[in-house]
Amino acid sequence: MRDFLLFVENRDRFAVGLFRQFKIEETPSRVLIITPTLEQKKWVLEYIRARLSDYEKEILVRSQEEGKKLQEDPPKDNLLPSYNFENFVVGKSNQLAYRICLEVSMNPGVYSPLFIYGGVGLGKTHLLHAVGNRARSNGYKALYRQAVEFSEEMIKSLKEGKIETFRKAYSNVDILLLDDVQFLSGKERTQVELFRVFEALQSAEKQIVLVSDRHPKDIRDVSERLLSRFASGLILEIGLDKETKLSIIKNKLLLFGLPTDKRHIDYVMENTGYSVREIEGFIKTLKFTGIREEQPTQALSKEEDLIKHVAKYFNLRTEDLKRETRERKVLKARQTAMYLCRTLLHMSYSEIARLFGKPDHTSALYSIKKVEEKKQQDRKFAYTLEMLEKSIKKHLGLN
Ligand code: ADP
Ligand code: MG
Repeated sequence: MRDFLLFVENRDRFAVGLFRQFKIEETPSRVLIITPTLEQKKWVLEYIRARLSDYEKEILVRSQEEGKKLQEDPPKDNLLPSYNFENFVVGKSNQLAYRICLEVSMNPGVYSPLFIYGGVGLGKTHLLHAVGNRARSNGYKALYRQAVEFSEEMIKSLKEGKIETFRKAYSNVDILLLDDVQFLSGKERTQVELFRVFEALQSAEKQIVLVSDRHPKDIRDVSERLLSRFASGLILEIGLDKETKLSIIKNKLLLFGLPTDKRHIDYVMENTGYSVREIEGFIKTLKFTGIREEQPTQALSKEEDLIKHVAKYFNLRTEDLKRETRERKVLKARQTAMYLCRTLLHMSYSEIARLFGKPDHTSALYSIKKVEEKKQQDRKFAYTLEMLEKSIKKHLGLN
């Protein structure tokens, strides 16, 4: 028998029976007693105070009833204060999105739904949080969710029989900020629930802001009726042009305490693509490494450039992809690169095999088939592939 119950028994044999009805978790330094109701918790606390106050360990008492109440508290807004309008650099290709977002945070409902789309690392998530933060300081109730989080919460509520609470929570906000809605694809029940929330918010003239990496018409496996709602308001694209990239580089160099002279600016400009996330990452690294004196760069062939791009995506080096290994991450990256050589550069299987130092064309054939299979079976992978394809096409100037 556990120490605590033994101790109780020494004082009061009858009380042991009562305590047994509760869940008791005992560690060397404390005892946690969990009672079903709040009433029982009060009784236990009273009992401890009167009879067991000299027990050597700390005694904590909780009731399940309270736990439940706590879970039904208003949902967290999930807003990140560090993403705000003040630290968002505005330029030609994001100023419209910026201006409309600002407007929405002051007058939620004006442009609802607002749908913003654009490639990765261009500040979409940043803007969503900025809207939420500003709206909150204007006295509005805003809620930020990744579409995937929304989905997980919905499923959890469903399992726990709390779907009504879930619906109410989401229909009770002034602004719903939903990020990366392309990930709703294939999630049918989530789409049904989101449709409900959507209708509730729209009919109450509340604000919905949706973000995606693509235009609603390019989102797959999402019901027609939901997509048509997504597209029923204002749709804006966010991008990054050269001038804005320049202002962002200056701004981030300053932010990371680096000089903003021409040498630094050019160095970042030349070594990064059109993604603010990439620029930030590059500058963070630059802070430690400093500018590396350039070895004269030879122009890379298209194939080598493609491999470099894929390697970078998988956080590997170009050499890794040609290395003899069974490491899964490398294999995956290599197979992906082989596949892209085929689909984007139309290379033959033997050419591809040679490029990766393989003896004959069968290895290329096999790898490419693997990727094709995986693309069919794994939605997330298919998506990654599509993104990679897009960015490589842009990078190599293919169409
Ligand atoms: P997305 O959601 O479009 O993929 P994020 O909003 O996550 O991109 O942006 C990636 C990073 O770049 C974030 O750290 C964000 O703060 C920063 N960022 C993006 N756009 C800007 C901008 N215009 N000004 C300042 N920082 C930006
Ligand atoms: Mg994002």
